[in-house]
Amino acid sequence: MAEPQRRRRAPKKPDEPLGSLSQPAPVPDHARACVACASRELTRVSMTLGDGTPVMFVSCQGCEHRTWVAEDGEHLDAAGVLRRAGKQ
Ligand SMILES: [Zn+2]
Repeated sequence: MAEPQRRRRAPKKPDEPLGSLSQPAPVPDHARACVACASRELTRVSMTLGDGTPVMFVSCQGCEHRTWVAEDGEHLDAAGVLRRAGKQ
């Protein structure tokens, strides 16, 4: 009469943690994995810098590494982003 124990399901992640930030945008190759730990659990937010440069803000859920990736694949650090944001 032993019943098979149910396996616990992996906890499901909420689809939209904060509401309407996420947009169905294609994920570019250069923003698929964390550059620091190669994790694919990333939060991505498309944004435009002050000088008009469209970038994707990428935040790693594994190691909390953050980077900004330009459309051409260039990675910007926080200093570079601030420099561009303050250009105008
Ligand atoms: Zn990482």
